[in-house]
Amino acid sequence: MLRNILLAFLLSTVLTSCPKNAVTGRSQFKLLPESELQTMATTQYREFLSANRVVSSSNNRDADMVNRVGRRITRAVTDYYASKGISNQLEGYNWEYNLVDDKTVNAWCMPGGKIVVYTGLLPITQNEAALAVVMGHEVSHAIFQHGNERMSAQLGAQVVGAGLSVALSNKPAETQNIFNAAYGVGTAVGVLLPFSRKHELEADHYGLIWAAMAGYNPREAVPLWQRMESMSAGSKPPEFLSTHPSEGKRIEQLEKFMPEALQYYQPVGK
Ligand SMILES: [Zn+2]
Repeated sequence: MLRNILLAFLLSTVLTSCPKNAVTGRSQFKLLPESELQTMATTQYREFLSANRVVSSSNNRDADMVNRVGRRITRAVTDYYASKGISNQLEGYNWEYNLVDDKTVNAWCMPGGKIVVYTGLLPITQNEAALAVVMGHEVSHAIFQHGNERMSAQLGAQVVGAGLSVALSNKPAETQNIFNAAYGVGTAVGVLLPFSRKHELEADHYGLIWAAMAGYNPREAVPLWQRMESMSAGSKPPEFLSTHPSEGKRIEQLEKFMPEALQYYQPVGK
């Protein structure tokens, strides 16, 4: 009996929380209100920035570049959504871009558009267009709300495991822990939730388009990912690849997405 009620509950939850994404057309299982994730992200972002060394963009060329690329990429996204009449999908996004002085090869974007690039990434990107490819990738994860999906999958598994008593709204600590696992920040993170293959494909695909729309040559994506993947064979694989797994097919897929991305490409001379 209880099992049936539980199944009915889960089924109704699944049916009501699987809207289609307006850009990708893919149905997404999202249990959490995105606004809640945005609030959590803002808090975590502030904590992260105060606990790390932020490079000021006023007198640093790299930090200035991160800012410029971030502004161009998010303007491309904003324009694209406006042209499709779906600007409401970007409600609550307040884009921020920060370069952090840290040798880790990584970058991320939290819900609501909170972006961090680590200085350790820049020797791999090597040029502004390749940085735009990475930032376009990260921005895609945020606007397609992949974090919400990852967390929902995890929460769903816990609901099944623990029964109906695990009502999400009554478990803020649980939700916070899963958020930390999804973003690898905060304290005592034991486990990271990597993005899934379909998330990576979407982020690679649309990341190229945003970079191209922002005036950056999307072809830089191929040598960039070759550099990244050649590092993965070394003694210290890039942190980036542990949360953004490639499974060896990334270059092949990028080549497939390239003709579409190039249609959007108008060089801006930088
Ligand atoms: Zn990714």
